[in-house]
Amino acid sequence: MAEVKFENIVKEFEDENKGKVRAVNDASFTVKDKEFLVFVGPSGCGKTTSLRMVAGLERQTSGNVYIGDRLVNKVHPKDRDIAMVFQDYALYPHMTIRENLGFGLKNLKTPKAEIDAKINEAASILSIENLLDRKPRELSGGQKQRIAVGRAIVRNPSVFLFDEPLSNLDAKLRVQMRVELSELHKRLGATIIYVTHDQVEAMTLGQRIVVMNGGEIQQIATPEELYENPSNMFVAGFIGSPPMNFIKARLDGNKLHTAANTFILPDDKVALYKEYDGEQVIFGIRPEDILATKLLNKQPENNVVSTNLKVVEHLGAELLIYFDNGDDQITGRVSADAKLKALEPVELYFNLNKMQLFNPDTQERI
Ligand code: ATP
Repeated sequence: MAEVKFENIVKEFEDENKGKVRAVNDASFTVKDKEFLVFVGPSGCGKTTSLRMVAGLERQTSGNVYIGDRLVNKVHPKDRDIAMVFQDYALYPHMTIRENLGFGLKNLKTPKAEIDAKINEAASILSIENLLDRKPRELSGGQKQRIAVGRAIVRNPSVFLFDEPLSNLDAKLRVQMRVELSELHKRLGATIIYVTHDQVEAMTLGQRIVVMNGGEIQQIATPEELYENPSNMFVAGFIGSPPMNFIKARLDGNKLHTAANTFILPDDKVALYKEYDGEQVIFGIRPEDILATKLLNKQPENNVVSTNLKVVEHLGAELLIYFDNGDDQITGRVSADAKLKALEPVELYFNLNKMQLFNPDTQERI
């Protein structure tokens, strides 16, 4: 069993200029056995600090960390049965790849035959057999990355910790390594905690995702749940690209008034938002839920906005379109087949079945 549990974890750092900095504020969560859990959030939100507390490289100010059934608050990193893969790979330059892979086991006084068997097994899993006698400087970034993972695999830990392992790779290689890491997880059947600031990486790798901001956990959910039901404006704006549009609006029965338009709510939404009737809200709609009417088979009866596009960006199969609604700038993502052009009038359908509403004061989803 390799469940990892955080119980009311607080971590404060002493900063010379700012005094006490609270990097993690009362975080509680459980990573399930064999789960691939991703921490995501902007720079400085506390995700690396959280990972380092699991590893034992950082000691929490208060709260408890459990690995399996064991309270590990006072357990040394090397006795926590974890292996960590760092962003900079941390390979020893003077050692061959084989020596790099075996180093940890050698330190644990593992018999040589066993070390060799484990290295060969990891090398075969990662297809790096032909690299074993090289030195790190003779490898590409992607190959070094694989070796860093291999070094974790040979230790056969119950929990793998990854700290932005793909951030030094170019975009194409990152996509390839992402697929490899997913396959590796299935093959190893291990618990993985993975830190990234890249929401696409989080959404594609994580079985569940912890979204953090300012030291606080904002939401813990599956990728689908984060996308469909973000718990607040931070999560709604962080997950999805381009981010969700936020438009100032007022509820009025089955109507939603923005500065420039009046939308008609679907019946189920009218019921859902009943107690906010008459109130100011933030209307959230994702760029992909704004559609060019000219591509629709059936013309919608309402929720069509006529506007002039300010800018159109071509992404190949899709177009990003930008237009104003009162003070709010709106982004849409439509099929390139719509052939929309900047400064020309256009009719856009807002699919309110996919809308969200947020409380403007608390920023929580209504
Ligand atoms: P990044 O993606 O930039 O690595 P992060 O989300 O991993 O960011 P952390 O590295 O966990 O963020 O840092 C969280 C907060 O704690 C930041 O405000 C950071 O400045 C602060 N912090 C981290 N380590 C220390 C330290 N050793 N001393 C003082 N403050 C620290």
